Amino acid sequence: MAFCGLNLLNLSAVSAAPAAPNATDEARYAAMPTYSNKNNDLEMTVDNNGTHFRLWSPEAENAQVLIYTSDRNSAPVDTIDMVRSSGGTLTADSPKQLYGHFYTFRIKHNGKWLAETPGVWAKATGTNGERAAIIDFRLTDPIGWNDDKGPKLENYTDAVVYEMHHRDMSMHPSSGIVHKGKFLALTEHGTTTESGTSTGIDHLKELGITHVHILPSFDYNSVDESNLPANKYNWGYDPVNYNTPEGSYSTDPANPMARVAEMKRMIKALHDAGIGVIMDVVYNHTATNDDSNFSLTAPGYYYRHRADRSYSDASACGNETASEREQMRDFIVNSVKYWANEYHIDGFRFDLMAIHDIETMNIVAEELHKINPNIIIYGEGWTAGDSPLPVGQRALKENVAKMDGIAVFSDDIRDAVKGHFSDAADRGFATGKPGLEETIKIGIVASTAHPQVDYSKGNNSKFAYASSPEQIINYVSCHDDLCLTDKLAASMPNSTEAERIRAAKLAQTIVFTSQGTPFITAGEEVFRSKQGVHNSYCSPDSINAIDWTLKSKNAELFDYYRNLIALRKSHPAFRMTSAEDIAKNIRFDNTNIQNVVSYSILNNANGDSSKEIKVIFNGGDKPYTTRLKKGNWKILAEDGNIDPEGLRDFNGGSISIPPCSALILTR
Ligand code: CA
Repeated sequence: MAFCGLNLLNLSAVSAAPAAPNATDEARYAAMPTYSNKNNDLEMTVDNNGTHFRLWSPEAENAQVLIYTSDRNSAPVDTIDMVRSSGGTLTADSPKQLYGHFYTFRIKHNGKWLAETPGVWAKATGTNGERAAIIDFRLTDPIGWNDDKGPKLENYTDAVVYEMHHRDMSMHPSSGIVHKGKFLALTEHGTTTESGTSTGIDHLKELGITHVHILPSFDYNSVDESNLPANKYNWGYDPVNYNTPEGSYSTDPANPMARVAEMKRMIKALHDAGIGVIMDVVYNHTATNDDSNFSLTAPGYYYRHRADRSYSDASACGNETASEREQMRDFIVNSVKYWANEYHIDGFRFDLMAIHDIETMNIVAEELHKINPNIIIYGEGWTAGDSPLPVGQRALKENVAKMDGIAVFSDDIRDAVKGHFSDAADRGFATGKPGLEETIKIGIVASTAHPQVDYSKGNNSKFAYASSPEQIINYVSCHDDLCLTDKLAASMPNSTEAERIRAAKLAQTIVFTSQGTPFITAGEEVFRSKQGVHNSYCSPDSINAIDWTLKSKNAELFDYYRNLIALRKSHPAFRMTSAEDIAKNIRFDNTNIQNVVSYSILNNANGDSSKEIKVIFNGGDKPYTTRLKKGNWKILAEDGNIDPEGLRDFNGGSISIPPCSALILTR
């Protein structure tokens, strides 16, 4: 499956001993000299003395640089032989500054010239990323770029993450956006539907999220950039050039300046709106195997293999990369550093992070936080298949305590709230399935150790794997699997839409009041449907594009989301930063009622103005009645309504929580 991006399997469970790799090849790779790209001088640099090429290819018998004046379909205007240099590299120089030109490399390996490649460090390319481009990056900077900064993030738990695909956000005619499907879509202010509700960047501001998480935006394979009128859609989990923006999101893929400049303009516009930008990165596999840029520069080296030398496949996409090897580790670390420095990226979401080793991820976090301590790093703490990398070295969810400054998605809370991700009909706590109360509690305490939480009753993980709430991303849905609207439709077959919207409110209220960092996927706030398509990675815009007329149709739900985010922002008690604080300040009530979880956050936790916040979730189909102590309570959420300023006062005593709803009070 070359163009997969499905990430459907959730194999965080520890499997049997992985297949041993080929010992001869491992010894050969380990003996290869390496060259760190910490100074950004690999492959191509321009200075006053001309243009310099340095390719890491330790086994190449010969290598050449081919220079072109156009991005494809033309003969080279020059071919320069490369000479062997230090650290496994080969070099070549041109006395001219070759701005405006394109280049490729080709190497001779085992007596054979391999196909041309733009290399692995191309930072600008022409159409379909075939040839690397030589451009002056300072000419791609928007006005004010030197002073551009993302939002300040004191703690990971202060972030509210909104995952989006460029086409989903803007392609629908109702978006009112001019640059549909482009980076520039989010630079347009004042866009509205016909009825006047805001869309695009204004919508994001109105909602109150702190960060957008953009689905893969580096150059990927599956959309033909030479035929954009075909309007092909793909999530983009099929990497080609890791250090170049995707051309189909630019207004002109043939112009290498356009994709760089336009992505920067998008980031600048979001930063100016106070919103950070998190990039989805997919270093775990490449779109192709023998034809990838990795394979054409250093055959074999960048990938893991089985003993029979076939590609191992923990990505379920045909191959997996080898982060434990020095040059690959250096590639990942310096690639994310490059995006942080050149594009001012505020965070990184690692696809199938457990394919990478723990040590690499720790270096990633350490190096990124040297550049900007506000950068947020999280990933999928699982693989999609078995790997030769030993389980103990994998950046798994269960190993996250060994990774300071890195968070993982909580599939525990995800599956407990709405039902199992792969079984459409399965219900969760918020839709009336009993027996998930303990996993909801695990979600509330962000998978940290708590004296009142029994991890043996958890649905997925059986121990407190997080050492801090800053290591947990809470969500009920993302681009993978059924979106929340469709999951509720599939699991509540005889329900009305009003009942499903009610369940959606309860589900997200659990996410947004839990410790950890909340995450939603675009369109949930307007009750967007993908017509029941659970893996829409290559579905057309008719499935994926968000119909923004839903925003006025479901205005009450949108307001609920907006107020839910405001509630979280106004109460630091929901955003604690240590496991100790959570254990000390959260006290669960022993209700022993199916589909009811009730707890208090005490002691003005994390500097909160409230002495106590009481949160009661009733996922059942009957009202739950309880007694609260006498006092000056203010009710913030009740029976599907929410207002961070307070809905009404309450003096204590008996109170009833209607079916499928949350009650939140403070005093
Ligand atoms: Ca592409």
